[in-house]
Amino acid sequence: MRAAIYIRVSTEEQKINGLSVETQRNVLTDYARKNDLEIVGYYIDAGLTARKKLSHRKELLRLLEDAQKGLIDLIIFTKLDRWFRNIADYYKVQERLDDYKVNWKTVLESYDTSTANGRLHINIMLSIAQDEADRTSERIKAVFENKRSKGETPSNRAPLGYKIENSRLLIEEDTRQISLDIFEYYDTHHSVLGCVRLAREKYGYKIYDYSIRRMFANTIYIGEFRGYEGFCEPLVDKDLFYRIQNYRNVREFKNQLAAGRTYLFSALILCEECRHAMTAGFSIQQQKHGPKEFHYYRCREAVVNHTCCHRKRMNEEALERYLLDSIKREMGETLVVIKKRHLSVRNRRIDTAKIKKQLEKLKDLYLDDLIDKDSYKQEYKLLTAQLDSTAPVEPAPSEKCGIYLEQDINSLYQEMSPEERKIFWLGIVDRIVIDKENRIDFFLQE
Ligand SMILES: [Zn+2]
Repeated sequence: MRAAIYIRVSTEEQKINGLSVETQRNVLTDYARKNDLEIVGYYIDAGLTARKKLSHRKELLRLLEDAQKGLIDLIIFTKLDRWFRNIADYYKVQERLDDYKVNWKTVLESYDTSTANGRLHINIMLSIAQDEADRTSERIKAVFENKRSKGETPSNRAPLGYKIENSRLLIEEDTRQISLDIFEYYDTHHSVLGCVRLAREKYGYKIYDYSIRRMFANTIYIGEFRGYEGFCEPLVDKDLFYRIQNYRNVREFKNQLAAGRTYLFSALILCEECRHAMTAGFSIQQQKHGPKEFHYYRCREAVVNHTCCHRKRMNEEALERYLLDSIKREMGETLVVIKKRHLSVRNRRIDTAKIKKQLEKLKDLYLDDLIDKDSYKQEYKLLTAQLDSTAPVEPAPSEKCGIYLEQDINSLYQEMSPEERKIFWLGIVDRIVIDKENRIDFFLQE
């Protein structure tokens, strides 16, 4: 298999261990060798942040050109944030890669674009990365980096459970147990206010809820600071820390979805005429019972740039009805998968940490050639089925596909919130193609 190696590093990051061009190059080259990949080229965007406009990332563009020429089967990079920190750009490029039938892989993280859970996970991670990039400017990073290189803590305040002595961060025996109790309480009860109460009642310690929320995001507690491991002595177990982070990240993602308008099919619709993604919009119309909001999709190339003939709007409700009806008609194996995935989204708290670990293990087996692709797929199905174990509907065994769930798709769908519907469609539809006469063609995943 022919692999292209993509490396990105910003000017400030170049100084950070583990992020430099050399480190990334070594890790990736090593990976390619171990997995019998033929390296077709190194594409290195140095001195650029992942937020820079696509057109500024010259090497990425060269990479896409080579992909288009059919010179590449697989792109590898170390972590997703090397590739993109912006959801819109990610999809823009992903769409092209899909066209060229080129896959990508992160060698230090486990992602999977070929499954519903994998895609949902990427969505979540990109939302978080985008948020982080917004918050931390390169300049502030540079100031911290300077302090850190002198072995000093960049802050004047120590988090609860720590103290600062001679500019170093040390564990404070008097308060360490309060911190530990807060982490453990949250892990079990998922209640920040509960943590506030616990600190007050057990220790007479007054702490505000926002301070507690900050604690859960503070990697100091696992001894890390901005990607530097071993920055200080860890206080909290890594598994516990990431379990809480994952829980909170998923919740935040859901809140984000709930806060804005939810366009059910954005990122899924292509214009048949020009193959560009169609963009979502809304209009408010006065009706008998008050104002009603309509969502629609249209081809930007046609409406804004006048370079496409597709000028009709596609109404979201009509499209939703069409897709739902079509899926119901196709009662068969596909439907089973849909139900399974749907339930997996709807009926449980998404324990990403656990799933990620298991899927990672499975993937390792597959990559190390210890299992073949069919076993991998089968195992994957079993894993995703496990996720559904909290579903009220008991999976019944079947001859063909393993697990069938007997429930009417329509009644399931009607119970879903808009966000759940969006996740549902993201999970099962690969792409929807609409032509200038609003004829709909759609493709399910796999
Ligand atoms: Zn178009």
